[in-house]
Amino acid sequence: VTFEQLKLNAALLKSLDALNYTSPTPVQAQAIPLLLQGHDVAAQAETGSGKTAAFGLPLLQSINPGLQQVQALVVVPTRELAVQVRQELKLYARFMPNLKISAFYGGHSFRLEEDSLAHPPQVLVGTPGRLTDHLSRRTLDLSNVAQVVLDEADKLLEMGFEEELDDLLKALPRKRQTILFSATMEEDVKELIANSLQDPRFVQA
Ligand code: AMP
Repeated sequence: VTFEQLKLNAALLKSLDALNYTSPTPVQAQAIPLLLQGHDVAAQAETGSGKTAAFGLPLLQSINPGLQQVQALVVVPTRELAVQVRQELKLYARFMPNLKISAFYGGHSFRLEEDSLAHPPQVLVGTPGRLTDHLSRRTLDLSNVAQVVLDEADKLLEMGFEEELDDLLKALPRKRQTILFSATMEEDVKELIANSLQDPRFVQA
C-alpha cells in the first residue's frame, strides 16, 4: 500500500516525499483510512512504529487552515514528547500555509502561552497539567476542538493524569473524533477507551 492509496492530500504527500518516507508503516496503513473516515480509533502501537504520523497525517488533513481556532488537541504525558510531536507535525505540515501548531507544557512560560492564544493555533499539543491550568484560568477555548488525541495513554494514566484527562475531555464538544494510542492495553487503558471513545475501531500493529 502507498500513501497515495491512503487518500492523503497533495500537500501531505509532498512533505512525505521530501522526508523520503516511501511507504506507510503497518500502524499507518491501518489507522489512517479509519481516521480519515472519521472513526474513533484505539491503537496499540509502540514508539518507533510511526504512531505520530499515523494520527498526525489524518489530523492535519482535517484542519481548516482558514479558521483561527484550536481544532485539534494532542495530549501527551511529558514536555519532551510535546516538543517532539509538535516538531514532527510541523514537518508534515510544511506545505500547508497558515497553519499554526503550538506546544504547551509545564516549565514553559504560562504568560507566553497565554499571549500566543491571541492568535490561536489550529493544532495544540500539550501536557495534561498545563492544559488544565489554562482551562481553570479560562485562557484556552476548547469549544471548537473536533479531534483529540490521547498519545501514550498508558503513560498518561501511569503518571496519574486521570483527573486532568477527565477535565479536558469534559471541556471538549461531545461531537468529536477521539483517538487513543497506547503501547499497552491494560485494564485502566481499556476503561479510558470505554469512557471516552464512541464506537471505536481497534488497531494493533
Ligand atoms: P514514532 O513511532 O512516531 O516515534 O516514529 C518513529 C520515527 O519513524 C520518526 O522519527 C518518524 O520520523 C519515522 N517515520 C514515521 N513514519 C515513517 C514512514 N512511513 N517511513 C519512514 N519513516 C517514518
